[in-house]
Amino acid sequence: MPELPEVETIKNDLSQYIIGRLFTGVSVYDEKLIQQYQIGLFYSDLTGRRIVDITRRGKYLVILLSGEKTLILHLMMTGSLLLNPEIKYERSSRAVFRFDNGDKLLYMDRRRLGRVWLTDDVELIVGKLGIDPFNAGFTVEELIRIMWGHDMPIKAFLLDQTYIAGIGNMYADEALYDAGIHPMKKASSLSSMETDKLHTAIINVLETAIDSKGASVDTYQRPGGEMGYAQFNFRVAHQKGALCMRCGNPVQRIIVRNRGTYYCSYCQKQ
Ligand SMILES: [Zn+2]
Repeated sequence: MPELPEVETIKNDLSQYIIGRLFTGVSVYDEKLIQQYQIGLFYSDLTGRRIVDITRRGKYLVILLSGEKTLILHLMMTGSLLLNPEIKYERSSRAVFRFDNGDKLLYMDRRRLGRVWLTDDVELIVGKLGIDPFNAGFTVEELIRIMWGHDMPIKAFLLDQTYIAGIGNMYADEALYDAGIHPMKKASSLSSMETDKLHTAIINVLETAIDSKGASVDTYQRPGGEMGYAQFNFRVAHQKGALCMRCGNPVQRIIVRNRGTYYCSYCQKQ
């Protein structure tokens, strides 16, 4: 599923093609995609607006439009955005956005959990998100502050978007492995050395994945249809039975708060 590195890649790929473009139309094949907006009004309010900028908040794509409106997209589990794909309408197509130069942006989503908002108040949609790991304010001291008093497993803490925004299942497992921390360890019980390592690991793991254009482990593909290759750098995520690169023991899979979690029981002791 798209996490911060995948959404960042989509944003970077799309920006050169869509910034400055005018929406000339939109077809929505699945009305559940559009949140809090009457569908006819969505068409008329979007058409004619120009894209001023495209940014990211956590795992949300935030597209600033002319006339004080913002289009916000979340891809959830299986959403992808494809620019001028050659495929015709199929079951997982949920919407097509059309631009004044003839370009089309297709929203595909096999599991149909993704969402789109058109709003004049961005904070209403993304205001509850925690700090972005690439925000300059995300320091070790800030990580200590936001973890303080939380007895939940560190894995669950990393997945909670209201504390840190953008980390999902794959990169949480990778960061904890990098830092040598057991996924069930209570967030509040991390030593200062562990917190320090975790902070560095989060940044490193996400940066490496962005450099690799995201991980194509499921349906993720870039807007041009290319795959990402971050999955080839994974040490534990989706690696059950593979051997740990540090100690040679098999990577384990456990469930933490309903999420499949991969780790090395020797390198990440509880
Ligand atoms: Zn190991």
